[in-house]
Amino acid sequence: MDHIESRSPQSPDDLVVQVPDSPAAEVSAAVERTRAAGAGWARRPATERAAALGACADALAAAAGEVAALVVREVGKPVGEAAGEVARGVAILRYFAQAALLPEGDVYPPADGASLLHTRRRPHGVAGLITPWNFPVAIPLWKAAPALAFGNGVVLKPAEQSPAVALRLAELFAGALPDGVLTVVTGGGAAGAALVERADAVSFTGSVAAGARVRRAAAERGVPVQCEMGGQNASIVLPDADLAAAAQAIAAAAMGYAGQKCTATSRVIVVGDADGFAERLVAAVEALGVGDPTEPGTAVGPVIEAGARDAVVNAADRAASRGAKVLTGGRPLDRAGWFVGPTVVSGVPEGDELLTEEVFGPICAVVPAASPEAAVEAANSVRYGLVAALFTRDLGHALTLAPRLDVGMAKVNAPTAGVDFHAPFGGAKQSSYGPREQGPAARDFYTRTTTVTLTP
Ligand code: NAD
Repeated sequence: MDHIESRSPQSPDDLVVQVPDSPAAEVSAAVERTRAAGAGWARRPATERAAALGACADALAAAAGEVAALVVREVGKPVGEAAGEVARGVAILRYFAQAALLPEGDVYPPADGASLLHTRRRPHGVAGLITPWNFPVAIPLWKAAPALAFGNGVVLKPAEQSPAVALRLAELFAGALPDGVLTVVTGGGAAGAALVERADAVSFTGSVAAGARVRRAAAERGVPVQCEMGGQNASIVLPDADLAAAAQAIAAAAMGYAGQKCTATSRVIVVGDADGFAERLVAAVEALGVGDPTEPGTAVGPVIEAGARDAVVNAADRAASRGAKVLTGGRPLDRAGWFVGPTVVSGVPEGDELLTEEVFGPICAVVPAASPEAAVEAANSVRYGLVAALFTRDLGHALTLAPRLDVGMAKVNAPTAGVDFHAPFGGAKQSSYGPREQGPAARDFYTRTTTVTLTP
């Protein structure tokens, strides 16, 4: 069997783990084993499933420091954010432990006046979860926790860059869940594709390109599928905004965790003095701690791999060759590991990829807009529609412009990055496909409804 090596982005000589690149037959066998174990799990009372998820939460909470350190080591996430992600994972498990106990159906007035006409929910069977590396705890858990809470077995295929974290989570939960109910299969895109061919429901988070293949394959088989994909997220700054606060929020949203969040800000659309705001933004970006992700003061660590660093440098160089100005960053840092300076660019010509495509690194472009309406139009002009932010002190602008942003999540005076796990999460256009994730929406995805007529 071929193998995959996961290496630490800040010290590429550090081999975190070597795991099998599971072939299709192995993935298929994992699905069948999980299906067998999952059948018993589906029959357990919801109170038992809730208790088991609570025990998973306790196990993760008890190991929080160790898991956060592994996240830092495997994907280079700054330690403060890694600790926050693990805490969020614990909260997600507790939330879905409670959600398992909510009423599961509705009762309807029957036409005959006598029958009991009601709905029941059933799990699908095996939920196939395919996840990216950038939130190696939170994303697997915001899929696995509801899948398990509502009685599914789970096969998780983590990204090839973050198998160690996924395997550690499965180990931690082994004492809390019945054997075989949660299985991790390691591997790359082919293993993911094999999972899509076998699972009874598929939840994917990752790039637009992979998501397009996943949803086609799942639709072909007629199984429920949801895909959360990339973003090219805009932050709009109006002249009446608290400009200092906006610059701080946007710097953090664009550069935090080296811009490797689907909700990172990539375009800063400024109505009014765009050059003046760019200066403020550059100052806020240059004040961020850059470097060793194990240091508590670091906001911007490494990017995940050499190609990701090169993508940032190339995007800045290409824009510069077309007349743009690189205001800060744009070059690799002179240290071991995959580090690139947080990069702010202005004067990017219309149509440049920096304004239309996701780079997924610490780079953003500042662009002027003639009016608030033009800013919204510019924000909406891309094929993505995950999240957008609007900075203004004018309640009228907030109320009228926010709903016109063609995105799944609109924020006013708050950074694009950062989500509340108990509210629906998802995007518009190419950023999302299928039902929302998280919050109450998760139950709709991980169950199917049967309408039962019970006539005396
Ligand atoms: P990726 O698409 O390369 O990989 C994601 C997962 O899909 C991995 O597990 C990978 O092995 C698997 N995969 C790849 N090809 C596949 C195929 N044909 N069939 C089945 N599985 C396949 O993405 P990545 O580099 O790991 O993550 C970065 C991307 O994820 C960015 O585009 C980012 O915006 C996006 N993302 C989106 C969200 C969201 O919720 N919208 C959250 C985090 C990341």
